[in-house]
Amino acid sequence: MTLAELENAKAQSLREIAAATDAAAVEALRVKYIGRNGSIPALIKAMKDVPKEERPAFGKAVQAWRAEAEGALAAKSSEAKCSPKTVETDLTLPGRWWKLGVKHPLSRIIEETAEIFARLGFTVADGPELENRFNNFTALNTPEHHPSQDRTDTFWFGDDCLLRTQTSPVQIRTMMANKPPIRVICPGRTFRRDTTDATHSANFHQIEGLYVDTKSVSLADLKSVLAYFAREMMGDGVTVRFRPHFFPFTEPSVEVDFTCHVCKGKGCGVCKQSGWIEVAGAGMVDPRVFGHVGYDAEKVSGYAFGFGAERIAMIKYGIPDIRWLYENDVRFLNQLG
Ligand SMILES: [Zn+2]
Repeated sequence: MTLAELENAKAQSLREIAAATDAAAVEALRVKYIGRNGSIPALIKAMKDVPKEERPAFGKAVQAWRAEAEGALAAKSSEAKCSPKTVETDLTLPGRWWKLGVKHPLSRIIEETAEIFARLGFTVADGPELENRFNNFTALNTPEHHPSQDRTDTFWFGDDCLLRTQTSPVQIRTMMANKPPIRVICPGRTFRRDTTDATHSANFHQIEGLYVDTKSVSLADLKSVLAYFAREMMGDGVTVRFRPHFFPFTEPSVEVDFTCHVCKGKGCGVCKQSGWIEVAGAGMVDPRVFGHVGYDAEKVSGYAFGFGAERIAMIKYGIPDIRWLYENDVRFLNQLG
């Protein structure tokens, strides 16, 4: 081979390497040119046949070819590895769609409640799930001997730390940090040591409301607000009734029933023929609670109410078992979407 022929062969090899499009082609060219039986090693072996005076120039040219071919193959090989051309793409295939989920029924109840009360001037207040004894019990006028403070009823961590049993401590925090008037609802997760069955769960979501003002607030105000909520949440024709009850933090205290939204009060299987469904607890804030948060009970008055988000969801959507709300079974959740 003459020097000119060598230069031609070199140019040809570099053109072939530049045209390679995938890793297999690059490997084939590596074998063809610099592999053990490739063209370049063959030229080195044949060097002894080259006339002595031409040998240095010829040797130099062969080494240069080898270096250039190696460089080009290395560059091509790394390019082929990350080249999108190596992935078969069929542009006619349909795209991959994200499956749209639905909002969890509890989130919907909580959001809807916040929306309804927002129209009445209530804002949403939030607080921690881990509480102290004062916020969860003492400030709410619940004495230490009360059964709810017992270790069998509440999850305690030491003597002064517990998982809140209600969202009322958020009301205490709100009152301690603000002056009246106060209008808040406090939705959130609460915990009680309950055995889980169709209607009970050791964790559930409460929505509590509080209104405190320096002008006189009455039980009639409470009833009108809850009647508005009942109508907006459960539908036209649903109203409320109060039954006397006892809670440590309200005086007087009432249990709140909604008209059965299925039979509109006539009596049916859902309301056990009574026409009413028990929904919430409520009452006028006990003056001793105001004392605990530093309010003058002679100058302020207010009402508080609370209900379970699960209870409202079960009544509204006809869910017979509270556990369905926590099982994340998409067949159930999609039905409510
Ligand atoms: Zn009914």
